[in-house]
Amino acid sequence: MTQGFNTRAIHAGQEPDPTTGSVVPPLYQTSTFAQDGIGVLRNGYEYGRGTNPTRDSLQTQLAALEGGDFGFSFASGLAAEDALIRALLVPGDHIVMGNDVYGGTYRLINRVLSVWGISNAAVDMADDGAVRAAVAAGGAGGATRMIWVETPSNPMMKITDIAALAQIAREAGALLVVDNTFASPYLQNPLALGADVVVHSTTKYIGGHSDASGGAIVLSDAAMAEKIGFVQFAVGAVSAPMEAWLTTRGLKTLGVRMDRHSSNAQEIAEWLLTRPEVERVLYPGLPDHPGHELAARQMKRFGGMISVQFKGGEAAARKVAESTHVFTLAESLGGIESLMNYPSEMTHASVKGTELAVPVNLVRLSVGLEDVADLIADLDQALNRL
Ligand SMILES: *Cc1c(COP(=O)(O)O)cnc(C)c1O
Repeated sequence: MTQGFNTRAIHAGQEPDPTTGSVVPPLYQTSTFAQDGIGVLRNGYEYGRGTNPTRDSLQTQLAALEGGDFGFSFASGLAAEDALIRALLVPGDHIVMGNDVYGGTYRLINRVLSVWGISNAAVDMADDGAVRAAVAAGGAGGATRMIWVETPSNPMMKITDIAALAQIAREAGALLVVDNTFASPYLQNPLALGADVVVHSTTKYIGGHSDASGGAIVLSDAAMAEKIGFVQFAVGAVSAPMEAWLTTRGLKTLGVRMDRHSSNAQEIAEWLLTRPEVERVLYPGLPDHPGHELAARQMKRFGGMISVQFKGGEAAARKVAESTHVFTLAESLGGIESLMNYPSEMTHASVKGTELAVPVNLVRLSVGLEDVADLIADLDQALNRL
């Protein structure tokens, strides 16, 4: 029987050190490994870019938590995305992505990989017809080989039906990639819903403490895993040992953290709805969110991210973003501390003026694990300034 999520989070890839009995696997802060003769390796370890026991622990843990056979850890979410696309696609291939993917993902695909010959189209992933048409159309030079979706999306909190997209991808002979950063593997497992590959920015909920950058790829297809492993080794955008170790440590508490992130966010979203300054609250846990029922089906809970739009427009959103004391104004998300973000000038500045531009009256909250009464009091004093 497969063990429960929290048991896997704490024990997968985390066996006590065989030489000393250290309950926590040690941090192997090294770039190379001694050989007992030319090419005679101990346990297969040779050179840090290729393999490192600390990174192996994390990769095992990531695969176990997403329900995949292979896990790969990288220096950042974008490094993972770049390795994935270069490993599985060739110049001429076409990617169809959501029209509200993370700004950095859009920039990577649209400005870096386009030079390498990968074309793309950005569409509304909630519109089946639009997705099918874009997939069928392909690019100038070639066919659609990859569909890329984020659900919930950043920062519009749109929910997309992963199983339905997997069906479209299968029919078209394309791969479905799900960026599962916002949900984390505790709340949603795209591979079980039919996706081919899951990517994460582990910088966010998986690490969970805003102290380590990283990215991950998880999948179950051995042939694709071999190609990804080769690019990981040949290019070398791997997670450093310390970052990997911090991420394994953070990941052990993912389940309890996500439960509290979700309950704090639910309470704050409901409170925001009562405020006259607020035009719209984007949180899938609210019954009037267009993706509420779908999210209730494909996610365990609704997560810790909320976007809010203000009636007072850009000025109101900026004022709130700069007026909180418990929420810290900063990029990133998914840590234990609450963060406030003004996406159109911060995380999503790179998509300003494109079809992915974020409304200027929107702020994004990453609801942390502080006492929810303090978070609401902080938002209350900020909104009272409007
Ligand atoms: C942050 C983020 C990324 C990029 O990850 P980095 O670790 O910053 O490179 C990708 N997707 C989503 C949804 C993100 O929030």
